[in-house]
Amino acid sequence: MFRYHFSAQDILFGPGSISQLSEAVDRFHWRRLLLCTTEHCRQRGHLTTVEEALGDRLVAIYEGVRPHVPVSNVEEATALATAYQVEAVVALGGGSVIGTAKAVSLALEAQRTGRPPQSAFPTGQPLAPVVALPTTYAGSEMTPILGTTRLVDGMPRKVTLTDPRLVPRVIVYDPLLTLDVPPRMTAGTGINAVAHCLEALYSITRNPLSTAVALAGLQALTHALPQCYAKGDDVEARTEALMGAFLAGMALSTVEMGLHHGICHVLGGTAGVAHGDANSVMLPHVLRFNLAATAPQLAQAAQAVGLSRAGQRDEITASAVVQRLADLLTQLQLPQRLREIGVREHDLPALAQIVFASRTARQNPQPLKDAAQVETLLHEAW
Ligand code: NAD
Repeated sequence: MFRYHFSAQDILFGPGSISQLSEAVDRFHWRRLLLCTTEHCRQRGHLTTVEEALGDRLVAIYEGVRPHVPVSNVEEATALATAYQVEAVVALGGGSVIGTAKAVSLALEAQRTGRPPQSAFPTGQPLAPVVALPTTYAGSEMTPILGTTRLVDGMPRKVTLTDPRLVPRVIVYDPLLTLDVPPRMTAGTGINAVAHCLEALYSITRNPLSTAVALAGLQALTHALPQCYAKGDDVEARTEALMGAFLAGMALSTVEMGLHHGICHVLGGTAGVAHGDANSVMLPHVLRFNLAATAPQLAQAAQAVGLSRAGQRDEITASAVVQRLADLLTQLQLPQRLREIGVREHDLPALAQIVFASRTARQNPQPLKDAAQVETLLHEAW
C-alpha cells in the first residue's frame, strides 16, 4: 500500500535556463519579489545575473542567510518581506537559503491569514510562494520539508515540519550557477543527494515512483560527482549531477526519511556541523546498521552504482553497494570521522538521545530499541 501526491511545480532545467526566470515569474503575475541569498552569490556574480533577470520585480534583497536556517534569519527576512509587501520569495543558493525562503513564505501565510500555518490538504497552495534557484545538490527545492534551528531547553535544535504549501512553485535548475561550487562543497552536498536516493529506496513509505527516480538519481550522481570534483567547470558533468540532485529531491519529496537523516539533522542543528560533512561521515555507518532490514532494496541499486549483481544473494549485493559508496567517499576525499568535523566525544550521549526521540528514528526500516543503539553508532563514526 502507498500514497502518492503531486505538487504543482514549474521546473526549468538546463544550462542557461536562468534566462527564462522572468518569463516564469510573469506567468504567475508576481510583481513584488524578495530575494534571499548569501554573500558568496554576490561575490561570484550570480546575484547580478538574477538582479538583471528580474529587474524592478525585485523589491528587496536579504543576503544574511546562515547555515541551518536559524530563526533569527527568518525573522529578519520576514520583516523585510512584510515591509515590502512581497508576493513571492526567491531563493538563490543552497539548502539553507531555500529553507529560509520557505520559512518566510510560511510566516507571511500566518501573518496574512491570522491562522497557524499548518495545511492538512496535500495540494494546498501558498499565499507567498517560493521560487528556487538552487546552487548546490541539497534538494530542498523539491520538498515540502522545512528545518529551522532554534533554542530548545537552552540547546540549539533543528526542528522540522512538513507542509505541502512549502514546495517551491517555480524552480530553475541552471548548472551554470554551480560551476564555481568548491570541490569539498560539491562532494558533500552531492553525497547529501546520494543519501536522499538511498533513504528513499528503503523508506518505509516508498512507492514505485520514488524508487524509480531514486535509482535514476543515484546513477547520475555516482557517475557525475567524481568528474565535477576533478573539474568543477565541466558543464556536462555539472548538468548530470544537478539532474541527479533533482531526481534525488523528487524521491525525497514523497517519502519519509530514516535514521541517517535524523542523525544529520541533529549533527547540523545541535553540533553545528555542515550538512554535507554530516552526510559524508554517517552514511556508510547507517547503511551498515540498516543492512539486515534493507538488503533487497539496496541490492536494487547495484546497477545504478556500476556493479553487477549476477545471481548473488541480496545480502551480498547490498554489502557490495555499501562498500562501493564508502569507496566513493574516499575518492571524493570527504571526512570519514565525526572527530574530524568538530563533534566532541562527550556530546555523543546527548546527541543520541535527541536522535532517538525524533520521528526519523521511529520511521527507520531497522527498528530502534533505545538511544544506546544510536550512541554506539555515533561512537563507531567518531
Ligand atoms: P548550505 O545552504 O547550508 O550552504 C553551506 C555553505 O555553502 C554556505 O556558506 C553557502 O554560502 C555556501 N554555498 C552555497 N552554494 C554555494 C556555491 N554555489 N558556491 C560556493 N559556496 C556555496 O548548504 P546545503 O548543503 O546546500 O544545504 C544544507 C541545508 O539544507 C541544511 O540545513 C539541510 O538540513 C537543509 N536541507 C533541507 C532539505 C529539505 O528538504 N528541506 C533537503 C536538503 C537539505
